[in-house]
Amino acid sequence: MVGISGQTTPSIYDVYHTAKVVKNHNPYALVVVGGAHVTFQDEQVLQECPEIDVVVRGEGEVTMSKLLERVEERRNHVGLPGTTIRSGSSYLRNPDSPYIANLDDLPFPAYDILNLPCYFPKGKRIAPMITSRGCPYQCTFCSSSRITGKRWRGRSPENVIEEVQLLHDRYNVRDVTFLDDLFTFDTRRVEHFCERMIQEGDGIGWTCSSRADIMARHPEMTSWLKNAGCHTLYIGAESGSQRILNRIKKGIKLSQVISAVKSAKQAGLEVVLSFILGIPGETREDVLSTIDFACKLDPDLAQFTICTPYPGTPMYDEAMENRWLSIADWTKFTVLEPIMNLPGLSRRWIKQQLRRAYYRFYTRPSFIWKQIKMKNLDIFRVAFRSIINRFRK
Ligand code: SF4
Repeated sequence: MVGISGQTTPSIYDVYHTAKVVKNHNPYALVVVGGAHVTFQDEQVLQECPEIDVVVRGEGEVTMSKLLERVEERRNHVGLPGTTIRSGSSYLRNPDSPYIANLDDLPFPAYDILNLPCYFPKGKRIAPMITSRGCPYQCTFCSSSRITGKRWRGRSPENVIEEVQLLHDRYNVRDVTFLDDLFTFDTRRVEHFCERMIQEGDGIGWTCSSRADIMARHPEMTSWLKNAGCHTLYIGAESGSQRILNRIKKGIKLSQVISAVKSAKQAGLEVVLSFILGIPGETREDVLSTIDFACKLDPDLAQFTICTPYPGTPMYDEAMENRWLSIADWTKFTVLEPIMNLPGLSRRWIKQQLRRAYYRFYTRPSFIWKQIKMKNLDIFRVAFRSIINRFRK
């Protein structure tokens, strides 16, 4: 049995290729794929890639272990919750699997059989971890709650610290990236975790994401994070237009973004904000106000992406209903290419605005001056390249 991650949409053809390689090598291998993309495109995936035998939908851990039991017992997969399988010339979507109630019940990843240093970026000893699942919010560009449910579930601080210590003691990891959608959802858990990190965190640095409304409601959290070793906070600001924030059901106010950034900076955290350009319903003025807003907020870094309706999101359903999707090639779902034909916003103009957004943000004199003071020449080089490219176009 070979499991392949079908998490991201643009890499799905690589998944197909891998499945082919496996089957060519051993036609009797059971090829199983799981992840966000295949969860929502299960039948299409089976149709497009005959070498894939089973799609695991949603949370995969329990489903995969039950699948293995069935393989060992030489039973078929009919009725196995959380899977979609082939059935004659058609497909059988078995019922959904229940969400894992207590995430502490899951064992840690099998780091001992993973060559972890291969995955360290540029020789830095950084490892990713996920400590919670589920999201009660309804952002229309996100499929998270359709994969992991609307109820937030968090691992206990003790369980998280144990894994952090394992990574530190056995693999000399010096920094952890918490990839949770909502690391800061439960403020009591954050407080408890931060207290434990101060006592037992071995000086490990870390980063996490939060929502602007949570940080605005709990500005005290920023100093907990900072004191416990957190150095960078990621926040999805998405748009500089309140009308658009409401339209994508983000559930935040512009004033909350402003106050979240302010308190994070005051606490000494680096702030990274992400913004989306080319959202359905946006006018040109909305897009321009997003770029202005990013510059005014002056975070340490800003990430701009082009609105991309991924399968499983309410926005994908809306794009399909309105026939906005101009491209059927999944490799183009990269957030760097406009793939929707939206009324009032040409794809060419949106692409120009993406370039303009990076150019404007990273060539501001205040930003460049900050990098010079910090002796951060890498960023300075990127900004310089951006100016050269700008003149070439
Ligand atoms: S973007 Fe974040 S807050 Fe919004 S639905 Fe997705 S996970 Fe939840």
